[in-house]
Amino acid sequence: MEKDKYLLKATRLLDSEPPALDGGKLRAYVEEFLGRRDLYLAAWRQFGSPLYMLDEAALMARADEFYRRFSAQIPDINCFYAIKSNYHPFLIKTLIARGYGMDVSSGVELKLVLDHSPDRVIFSGPAKTLDELKLACAHADRVTVLIDSFGELERLQAVAAGMKIKVRAGVRLTVEDRGLWRKFGISLALLEAFLKKSGECPNVSVEGLQYHTSWNMDTSQHETFLKRLGSQLGALPAPLIGGLKFLDMGGGYWPPEGEWVHAAVTPEGQLRACLDPQPLPAVEHCFYPALPLEDFAGRIRSVLESDVFPHCRMQPCVEPGRWICHPSMHILLTVMDKKGDDLVIVDAGTNTVGWERYERDYFPVLNLTRPSLEEKPCVIYGSLCTPHDIWGFHYFGEDIRPGDILFIPDQGAYTYSLRQQFIKPLPAEVVLRAGKNSIEAYK
Ligand SMILES: *Cc1c(COP(=O)(O)O)cnc(C)c1O
Repeated sequence: MEKDKYLLKATRLLDSEPPALDGGKLRAYVEEFLGRRDLYLAAWRQFGSPLYMLDEAALMARADEFYRRFSAQIPDINCFYAIKSNYHPFLIKTLIARGYGMDVSSGVELKLVLDHSPDRVIFSGPAKTLDELKLACAHADRVTVLIDSFGELERLQAVAAGMKIKVRAGVRLTVEDRGLWRKFGISLALLEAFLKKSGECPNVSVEGLQYHTSWNMDTSQHETFLKRLGSQLGALPAPLIGGLKFLDMGGGYWPPEGEWVHAAVTPEGQLRACLDPQPLPAVEHCFYPALPLEDFAGRIRSVLESDVFPHCRMQPCVEPGRWICHPSMHILLTVMDKKGDDLVIVDAGTNTVGWERYERDYFPVLNLTRPSLEEKPCVIYGSLCTPHDIWGFHYFGEDIRPGDILFIPDQGAYTYSLRQQFIKPLPAEVVLRAGKNSIEAYK
């Protein structure tokens, strides 16, 4: 009976604690940023508060590390940065200079990257408009279109024929035939029909396959899909798949820090909150590890070799976003008001990041003015007219007072791209230059 099944599961959850974030690791992480406190305070003296602080050294190190770790396992890997994760022009420019191709999902994003002369761009995403397809075709020397459907293949053929050009393309494959992700790409079962149809489209050269899965703490989603892909490719006639040159495995690689969340969002915490609602969520720090990237790449390589390449040798491509941009930007704030030892309000709202990120995710808030490796409970509110405007439930510091400068490291992923004009103005943008200890306004 359902009820017995649920009771058993619930008992198991109530008997267990969510996985805790190691306090020693957390302090080491905080200490590293406190070591650069003078530089951050200099930025505040020069440019005020609040600030988006772009970190050139962190971005370059991360970009090089991603490539190094992946290519140690897959030497011919081709990396495209998914700009939706942070489309700040500083990131686009820096990553192109580090050898990255660009992965865009709209005409707006395509225009943005074309301003920085990338040598290779992939354009994926559902329901591309005719204008977007035209823009891609106008730059067919460097843009590969990842087609999302049969209808889009027809539209791309018509646009390319009208412009009298031939455009390079790939096709996106659906990773699950049921559920929300069904919206993307074509079902694996229709790959044969798609490739046949592309043979009737003289202006579109379908040369590759793409799939994308999100939130990968390990390789399980990749392994499952690559095995399905391998058996499908094995069942297709060799001449039909002979033209496939690349296999784009998408993004979704989780940063090496792992995932840091409040206890309230873990299954254990959610069940407790249902049974016993509290005015504030449970905010113990919880941790889910991410498989180290080199192991991740190694496991992917072995499935490619066992299941996919025997049928069709394609160049592996990846589209990392979060892994690269997570450490590339920090946020600096100032305490404006204090209503008690456990409640302060700062000078910027979470419109700065565009969503209620800190009700779910845990990130340490560092008091640069009164630094300490001790963390104290205190709700750090933003200044918007909503109680859901929260930066955190603790701070690292001796104390916290109006005028104190706060710092939240590693806020580069899915924040700047999602920021919104809501009530309060958006922070100014500054760049910490690598190796120079200097700070510039971003122009
Ligand atoms: C969002 C997205 C990415 C990047 O995902 P991350 O989780 O930021 O690595 C890559 N490819 C596609 C198709 C995406 O939609």
